[in-house]
This record gives sequence, C-alpha cells and structure tokens, in this order.
Amino acid sequence: MRVYNFSAGPATMPLPVLEQARSEMTDWHGSGMSVMEMSHRSPEFVGIAAAAEARMRSLLSVPDDYAVLFLQGGATGQFSAVPLNLASPDRHAAYLNTGSWSAKAIEEGRKYVDVRVLADEKDSRYADVPTEGSFEVAPDAAYLHHTLNETIGGVEFPYVPEAGTVPVVTDASSTILSRTMDVSRYGVVYAGAQKNLGPSGLCVVIVRRDLLGHARPDVPAALDWAAMDKADSMLNTPPTLAWYLVGLVLEWVEEQGGVSAMGERNRAKADLLYGTIDRSDFYSNPVAPRARSWMNVPFLVPDPALEKPFVAAAAEAGLSGLAGHRSVGGMRASIYNAMPIEGVQALVDFMTDFEQQNG
Ligand SMILES: *Cc1c(COP(=O)(O)O)cnc(C)c1O
Repeated sequence: MRVYNFSAGPATMPLPVLEQARSEMTDWHGSGMSVMEMSHRSPEFVGIAAAAEARMRSLLSVPDDYAVLFLQGGATGQFSAVPLNLASPDRHAAYLNTGSWSAKAIEEGRKYVDVRVLADEKDSRYADVPTEGSFEVAPDAAYLHHTLNETIGGVEFPYVPEAGTVPVVTDASSTILSRTMDVSRYGVVYAGAQKNLGPSGLCVVIVRRDLLGHARPDVPAALDWAAMDKADSMLNTPPTLAWYLVGLVLEWVEEQGGVSAMGERNRAKADLLYGTIDRSDFYSNPVAPRARSWMNVPFLVPDPALEKPFVAAAAEAGLSGLAGHRSVGGMRASIYNAMPIEGVQALVDFMTDFEQQNG
C-alpha cells in the first residue's frame, strides 16, 4: 500500500514512473542490463541523457543560448559553484535573504565573494518576499542571487527580481516545473532534483551561455560549468540512474499536459489547503498571501503539544511526512507535482476531523 507522502525532499514520485522503472530495472529496452549497469559513454545511456535534456528544454522553453547541465553536489554544490563561476574574488555579489536556504547560499557565497545582502526579510520573520522595487542592484554586481521558493518557510517569489544588466541567479530547487517560468529572465536557474524532478543525487543547472567561461582558475572541475558543458555534463561519471529517472519524470510531466497544466493543478491543490487553513481558527499559516508557496505549506496548531499527536495520527491515516522542518517545528505539507489532488483532499479531510476532536 502506498501512502500519501508529504515529505519535503526526497519526496513523492509519480507512481507510473516508479512502475516503469521497476519494469525496466533489470533489462532496459532489450539491452540486457539495468541503466545503473551501463557505461555512461554507451550509446544507450547517451541517448537517455540527451532525451532528458531535450524534454527539460521543451518543458521550460529554455532558449537555445542556454546550456542545460546535469551535475552532482546538489543545490548546495551550486551555492559554491555560482560565485566560483561568476565572480572573481575582487567582485561583489548581491543576495536577497528570504529564509533558510537563502541564508545557506549567503553563508557559502561569503567564502568566495563579497556578499551584499540587499534585502533581508528578518522583520517579516521570513514570512514574505521583499516588495518589488524596494532594493537596487548595483550595476557592477557579479550577479543577484535569490531563492525562488523557500522550502522550509513556504515563501515563494511571485515576481522575477529586477537587476538591470546584472544576471539573476535563482535557486528553483523546490519549485521548478511546478508552474510556468520565463527562463530568459534569468542568467542561471538551478535545482536539486529530489523535490520536483526525481531522486536525489542530481542538480539541474540552466545557464546562459555568455556567462560560461568566466570561472576562477581554481574552480573545482566538478563545479566548472563551462568544462561540464563542453563534456555534456560527463566530465566525470554522472549520476546515471538519477538522470534516467528524472527523464522519466519529465516524460510524465509532458503526459500531464506540460508545465502550464501542472501549474493549474498545483494552484488548485494549494487553494484547497490554504483555504482550509484560512477558514479555520485552529490552523494557521504565517506567510503573506502574495508570497505563499504552491509547493510547501507550513502550518501551525494552536498548542505545540498537539503537533506530535497530529503527525502521529496523520501517519496512522496514511498521510506521511507532515512534521515541519527540525529548525522551525510545526507542520509542513509539501505538495509537489507528484502529489495528486486526492492526497491534498485526504489531508484537509484529516485536518478537519483533527480540529473537531481537538479544537
Ligand atoms: C533542498 C534544497 C536545497 C538543498 O539541496 P541539496 O540537494 O540537499 O544540496 C537548496 N535549496 C533549496 C531551495 C532546497 O529546497
């Protein structure tokens, strides 16, 4: 029996993808071997890799002058790769701080570059994004970094930050493919796979080609975008199984009608959950409505002593992974692409019952 898995990441996968992977596990398309046993240089795997890249490009309408890389090291690796590839040590880089993941990117960035935090949502207790136009990016900044969706705080940018000619870099780990986005407005989009794209072990990096080739000489090869681009992301052995599984997920997204269809579904799922929270005096969500994430919905009960019983009773009812992040407590429901609306309906039904028994 499968549960509804609301874990923030690694996260639920589309069942048809898991079933297809199972059916192909020991013999991929008559090759007589599993994808994980293939040489990454074999025509079979090179084909799998190219098909995944083509699907990513088509689903997100990635312009031709962007490279699409499939790298290891997670989104955390890119916290270092971004300054190492874009900024010489004498430059400064602008960052927006909207929560835990922004803060981690800033902390890592400080190792390599003069970080200037242009907006910090401290005053909103990280429950909002900066107002559009409230910060100004200096024209000599190497880049502007922001976190498109804060997976822990449940705060999502409803707009693309304006930075003039300075490239905008976005950590889209927990929102990529959940709704339409205009890649051409960004210099770099990166996303760890284990939220919305597939299993962990892979990070997709979409980078405008004119930003390649400016890395510091001491950039580690595994984080060097230009070198990876030249080698089709196979400078070293890529995470082949994860790459293949991401390809299957992308194919599934296509079958669902693509990113705009996913966006409509995700909006309906988010409306159902936020609507339940807002109509109740028992549950609450602190995030400013305009900045509410469609993917990660943190919520509180009036008495923290009810949190453990909530999570335990939910698990009993087949609703898994609802404990909030260890740094913030409370509850959190991650409702990525692979979570069907039936799962969200089951959650709101459970929440209504729990409120009646404990409210
Ligand atoms: C999960 C997550 C990360 C970290 O990803 P790793 O693959 O564990 O390095 C970074 N940023 C955001 C927004 C995330 O959700």
